[in-house]
Amino acid sequence: MDAGGGHFRIEPLADGVYAAIAEPSGFGLCNAAIVDLGGTTLVFDAMLTPQAGAALGKAAERLTHRPVGVLVQSHYHGDHTRGTAAVGPLQVVSTRRVRELLLERARPHLAADLAEAATELERLRTASPPLRDDEIAVYDGWFRGILATPPDLHVRPPELTFEKELLLHGTKRSARVVSFGGGHSPSDVLVHLPEDGIVLLGDLLFVGFHPSMADGDPSELRRILAEVRGLGAERALPGHGPVGDRTAVPELERYVRHLFDTARRARQRGDAPESLARTPPPAPFHGWKFTRFYEENLRFVHAHLGRTAGPAVQRAARRPGRSRSSRSRGTR
Ligand SMILES: [Zn+2]
Repeated sequence: MDAGGGHFRIEPLADGVYAAIAEPSGFGLCNAAIVDLGGTTLVFDAMLTPQAGAALGKAAERLTHRPVGVLVQSHYHGDHTRGTAAVGPLQVVSTRRVRELLLERARPHLAADLAEAATELERLRTASPPLRDDEIAVYDGWFRGILATPPDLHVRPPELTFEKELLLHGTKRSARVVSFGGGHSPSDVLVHLPEDGIVLLGDLLFVGFHPSMADGDPSELRRILAEVRGLGAERALPGHGPVGDRTAVPELERYVRHLFDTARRARQRGDAPESLARTPPPAPFHGWKFTRFYEENLRFVHAHLGRTAGPAVQRAARRPGRSRSSRSRGTR
């Protein structure tokens, strides 16, 4: 069913629960969800552009026969928040930290993305080593989406903030809006629909894509993924990629463990971080998209292990400044 103006396709997950899966050719980039709570409509995440956000708002209205009541932002990254105002929700909800990050970073990150997108688009077909066609399709929609974004776009921050958990009760179902802290980004929010066995995870989960990790904390990500697994959901909506089943979260946990093991062995041998990316990702991760994140993730975990060598070091170096490359490519 194509209801997303080319930006996404709608995939029903349960009666009144719909995934909006980003189409590579569109300007959505990240997945979103529409949940009919009964009496009010919740939308989870707002996609990369106002164009995709507007299509998402329209799809929500058509599917639930009312305007969007609540929009939950999973984290502050632009590909999940730039469509917020265009979705047209009555209220935007996330953590206080997400609000702070949006107020501080939304404008400079958009300016930096706009400054780089045309060059990035040009480089897609001349990259060395060459990118796979399925990867080029995703990057192409991503960079063209950035170029189609108004430079003066105001990213609407959450007006209602919470710290750990917020419960939304409709006449049909309840939604738990939960933050276990920050793993993928400094503050990550998920929606758990316990009656449906569904979790909406934003970028705490990637399916068939290498995760972007360099704006987060890999040790915290491991702890949070274990918490998410403990929710026992049957289906999980990732920020990027198709809807996952019970195996999706454990698979990402295996990936992160693989990064830790590889980086730890390199440290024990005294290898420089540059040596880490000389071998391609092993099965079952080698077919995943966003291949360039694999090297970035290995280096990031390698540096993280250096910083967390002892408790005193860990406290002192917990929040490093982001490098240019992690800003331009890591904040997804
Ligand atoms: Zn992200």
